[in-house]
Amino acid sequence: MAFDTSKISKLGFGCMRFTGRETDSIDIDYTAQMVDRYLAAGGNYFDTAWAYPNSEKALGRALVARHPRDSFYIASKCVAWNHCKSTDDLERQLQETLANLGVDYLDVYLMHNLGGVRTAAFEKYGAWEFMKSVKERGLAKHIGFSAHCTPEELEKFIADYPEAELVQLQVNYLDWDSPSFRERECVEIARASGLPVVVMEPVKGGLLANPSPAVAKILDEWLPNDDPAGAALRFAASVPGVFTTLSGMNTIEQVEANCRTFADFKPLDEGERHGIELAQEAMAKSGAIGCTGCDYCAKVCPQGIGISGSITALNYYINFDDAEAAAYQLGFVVRFNGGKKLPDECIRCGACEQACPQNIPILECFDRIEQEIVPHRKQVVLMKP
Ligand code: SF4
Ligand code: SF4
Repeated sequence: MAFDTSKISKLGFGCMRFTGRETDSIDIDYTAQMVDRYLAAGGNYFDTAWAYPNSEKALGRALVARHPRDSFYIASKCVAWNHCKSTDDLERQLQETLANLGVDYLDVYLMHNLGGVRTAAFEKYGAWEFMKSVKERGLAKHIGFSAHCTPEELEKFIADYPEAELVQLQVNYLDWDSPSFRERECVEIARASGLPVVVMEPVKGGLLANPSPAVAKILDEWLPNDDPAGAALRFAASVPGVFTTLSGMNTIEQVEANCRTFADFKPLDEGERHGIELAQEAMAKSGAIGCTGCDYCAKVCPQGIGISGSITALNYYINFDDAEAAAYQLGFVVRFNGGKKLPDECIRCGACEQACPQNIPILECFDRIEQEIVPHRKQVVLMKP
């Protein structure tokens, strides 16, 4: 049976970024309020994963336990890289996912984050045969995969997994035509193969919600009815072949703003597309690092370095040209608030770069932080004891 996506809302609820995801401290009451507002606005697609800390359990309590099972769709994912030592581990993950969520079946089950060196682990443990068995046993209605990959890799996945019914791909206006991501080519390949697309990272981990003043000015002029996050979401959702666009929401304000963006949704018109093109050009000039904050790097770092927080600080520096503000962010985001180590304790093993789905040259970023931001840090620490 083909995957009928016609009843799925165009805004999907990405569940990776619930507040408190680093501990067992997700606020269930608050999450339930977000869920309720999203459902009330017509949303019905929730995306989680076994590897998102505490996300499935929180969703089980905030959504599944409180709403009829046939009033929403749940997608989850299994991971082979870094979490799997045998095929049995895939079955263990599945059973944990079902128990965490409190469901008898998933609407969608995906292999999580194919591409690069991560692909080999799925092949090693026969993950696609496992996925087919999940569907045959009625534990998932539809199966597919998510990928951060090249177009060539995507063509191979589609050939190797002919039973896949959907694919989850990154789409955002920053990376749409970038040679590192080639998102446009990937979407066109999926579309030509008849695979419906779920969009992830439409706001690039929040980066496009807080663009530089130059980009914000352009968006304000050409897309006056959207805030920067709304403009990014509308870009992704306007791409032909996309059936839902995930936004990783973690505040009620975000849920409400996104629901407004998707109420009576209209694809970008010609003038709005031109505005996005101008924003793309301005973004390309700014050189901001495209870290999405997914923290896959943190999962493999033996030193507990605050990698995404460090890159956030670097982006402050790049976007606003303010080394002192960036230095303050480095101390606050990484050390004080994040409780992580600073880049100067990195042993340069390279494991983080292998795990990064965005191909970020993390060690080069660390070099820039050391050379351009850290010299301002001591001064700032003295100024702000
Ligand atoms: S290179 Fe540094 S930051 Fe990356 S995983 Fe190794 S120790 Fe951690
Ligand atoms: S550096 Fe890469 S893996 Fe780490 S948080 Fe950023 S995008 Fe994710």
